[in-house]
Amino acid sequence: MTELLQNHLGGRWVAGSGAGTALFDPVLGHELVRVDAAGLDLRAGFAFAREQGGAALRAMSYRERAALLAAVVKVLQAHRDDYYAIATANSGTVKNDSTVDIDGGIYTLSAYAKLGDGLGDRHYLLDGEPARLAKEPVFQSQHVWVPTRGLALFINAFNFPSWGLWEKAAPALLSGVPVVIKPATATAWLTQRMVRDVIDAGVLPAGALSVVCGSSAGLMDALGPLDVVSFTGSAETAALIRSHPAVTQRSVRVNIEADSVNSALLLPGEAPGSEAFDLLVKEVAREMTQKSGQKCTAIRRVFVPEALYAAAGEAVSARLAKTTVGNPRNEGVRMGALVSRAQLGAVREGVAYLQAQAETLHDGAAHPLVDADAAVACCVGPTLLGTRNAAGSDASDRVHDTEVFGPVATLVPYRDAAHALALVARGQGSLVASLYGSDAKALARTAIELAPLHGRVHVISPEVAAHHTGHGNVMPQSLHGGPGRAGGGEELGGLRALNFYHRRTAIQAGTATLAHLA
Ligand code: NAP
Repeated sequence: MTELLQNHLGGRWVAGSGAGTALFDPVLGHELVRVDAAGLDLRAGFAFAREQGGAALRAMSYRERAALLAAVVKVLQAHRDDYYAIATANSGTVKNDSTVDIDGGIYTLSAYAKLGDGLGDRHYLLDGEPARLAKEPVFQSQHVWVPTRGLALFINAFNFPSWGLWEKAAPALLSGVPVVIKPATATAWLTQRMVRDVIDAGVLPAGALSVVCGSSAGLMDALGPLDVVSFTGSAETAALIRSHPAVTQRSVRVNIEADSVNSALLLPGEAPGSEAFDLLVKEVAREMTQKSGQKCTAIRRVFVPEALYAAAGEAVSARLAKTTVGNPRNEGVRMGALVSRAQLGAVREGVAYLQAQAETLHDGAAHPLVDADAAVACCVGPTLLGTRNAAGSDASDRVHDTEVFGPVATLVPYRDAAHALALVARGQGSLVASLYGSDAKALARTAIELAPLHGRVHVISPEVAAHHTGHGNVMPQSLHGGPGRAGGGEELGGLRALNFYHRRTAIQAGTATLAHLA
């Protein structure tokens, strides 16, 4: 039997009472560890987090909590090699892709440690200036942000076991709110190990950080009215969370990061081989293959002027053809595995579903696997599809509705700028769109046109070629989340992330009293 990972709840390590669910190596196929959450006293554990963890965190200032984040960073940095080994084994990712998750998480924590330090020795934040309530400024309204008295439950997706934890935990802990993390079962190992290292190092107060690995049963039931839940995952599970009585009856605040059919758009007027054209091609190929396309922000739809369809298809395909796929332990491999056989099956099904309305420009199924047994490994090459012409782009609904969570994108030709915008809008709200062009005025205008449909618009022009942070990379300085289909959530965006973990209250008082708040 493999090791059964422990949960950390109520300030102690506790094993589930069941046999556990196995986690697998998606390349070699063998069992790695097991997780189990059966029999845990979730209500008592949550009460401990709120009462012990919450009180200890709130007793500190923002600056002191920022120092806690910096201490967590040090602990994680000391164990990076272990995290890379776990990512290779459990996520099947090549080193560069593990970096996005592991170092991306550590970087985000560091960013919030710096931001928090700047908030100083305060215990709450002021929101704006006092507003007069009477004719004379003797009685006024001052809004304040105070940390919520509940806990923050994070229910996370399998694709970012490190970053997914820390991008949420950093603003929560900085706000003074204790965290309970429930990682997706398939890749829970890395999350559990990171939490274990941080707990063992003793850098956080008891109850500030808990981890529950395994079934999600009972987690939502244990939430109280002042708790918050932040969910990342599929639209189907998001619907279950939204309709849970914790949300509908107890007003638990909820943030949803769901799936998204993100776009890349080459503006009209760019020739094949122009800098903007090449930047689009490079970014599309990178987005399709990074983490084997298992990124919520990955480019799924690529919009190009109809006249450039063939050239763009050939250029992206030429890059994809060079992608070596297989065992991430082999130095020559650039793209590792999908996370599980279930995901491999879902990606194959998804490609077939899209192919009914699109032609195949580059067939991932034809890629040979390096150092990997196709009967066991969850590996598949990148596939580029295309809707052939502008009429095909209109007629196809599947490309706009379907997120295939793997190395798959579709080239969608458009007639003119208005047509391009109308096609992008058929995604019904996405996390991110990237724009490529060399006309700053047209880029700015298009960015504002796309803004209502996206949480982030990433604009790439030749002068930022060597400086931009990547279409799919989520930076702590910028908002993450999108409207509509993307879940309607908001995360990160610098200090804006703290709002979710605070309550806003209006204090109506005399000027002398308000002076004591400032
Ligand atoms: P998922 O199946 O919805 O699972 C997400 C999480 O929900 C897992 O921790 C899962 O636990 C848990 N869960 C399952 N059923 C639940 C229930 N009834 N109540 C409470 N929790 C429950 O999603 P996934 O397959 O892991 O992730 C892939 C999806 O996530 C993709 O669609 C992707 O676009 C999206 N995603 C979005 C973002 C974003 O930031 N917007 C980021 C990453 C991924 P178990 O694993 O134990 O079932």
